[in-house]
Amino acid sequence: MRSTAGISPDVDLIDTLHLGRRHVIAAYLLLGDVPAIIDPGPTVTLPQIMAGLAARGMQITDLGAIVLTHIHLDHAGATGVLVRQHPGLRVYVHERGARHLTAPERLLESARRIYGPLMDVLWGEIAAVPATAISALRGGETLELGGRSLRVLDAPGHAAHHLVYHDPVSGAAWVGDLAGIRLPEQRYAQPATPPPDIDLAAWRASLDRLLDSAPDHMLLTHFGRVDAPAEHLADLWRNTEAWAAIVRDSLAAGDDDAASLARLTQYAAETYRTLPAEVAAEYQHAASLAMSWQGLARYWRKVGASA
Ligand SMILES: [Zn+2]
Repeated sequence: MRSTAGISPDVDLIDTLHLGRRHVIAAYLLLGDVPAIIDPGPTVTLPQIMAGLAARGMQITDLGAIVLTHIHLDHAGATGVLVRQHPGLRVYVHERGARHLTAPERLLESARRIYGPLMDVLWGEIAAVPATAISALRGGETLELGGRSLRVLDAPGHAAHHLVYHDPVSGAAWVGDLAGIRLPEQRYAQPATPPPDIDLAAWRASLDRLLDSAPDHMLLTHFGRVDAPAEHLADLWRNTEAWAAIVRDSLAAGDDDAASLARLTQYAAETYRTLPAEVAAEYQHAASLAMSWQGLARYWRKVGASA
């Protein structure tokens, strides 16, 4: 399977083939004077990163930086192992996420609660990143990587420590999970609302900030290039509000957790039925419905509790 594709002359998409499945996790290789990877993915898929580098005649020691949209394990899990293999790497991450890279124990503990015995199969080793390798960001900076300037946008919503990177010259915006999930050649924009810190109000504001930057196209981790950003983000927001309303209303009606999740599952199944079975499975692999339900339920309980 060909798993590296050119997005533009100086950007490659590497399909990390998570658990052998395509279109789940994309990593982006930025070529040029200071080559960098945006969101390398988890350690279990590092062989695909190596293969993507080798396709360009490169190896890890040719990289100058790892640029993280956020620290969820499907985006950033391999960072510590990569820095151990190449201590010259600079790691860019939101200041609110940095401490979880240098001391991943709490992150691991909460991930273990969610994934249990599947942790090792799904993600592999999660190594601490030395503090000296990290450059913490908060949004508003400009990263100079070789000849390229990336504008850093603070983008909370999916996670409190989420960033977006915008290249005003090419018009590309690396949006991580802020723009949800959309598979190649599909129109459906699937919400991605996992625990623990989704925040719908912050998310909406981050989308507006992204739209103000008027990106030409977006590069999603799940999965690939999306043109016409405004249309996609409008779709995503409509779908996210629909999911959020189902969970809010079912909890308000007194549904227990299982019944509330069943309502969301039933609603999502109507969409999946309109897609080819393989594509529907890819959407569900990219972000589990149960996790999105958990994030929304936690959000409404938090909002309700403080209201
Ligand atoms: Zn995420």
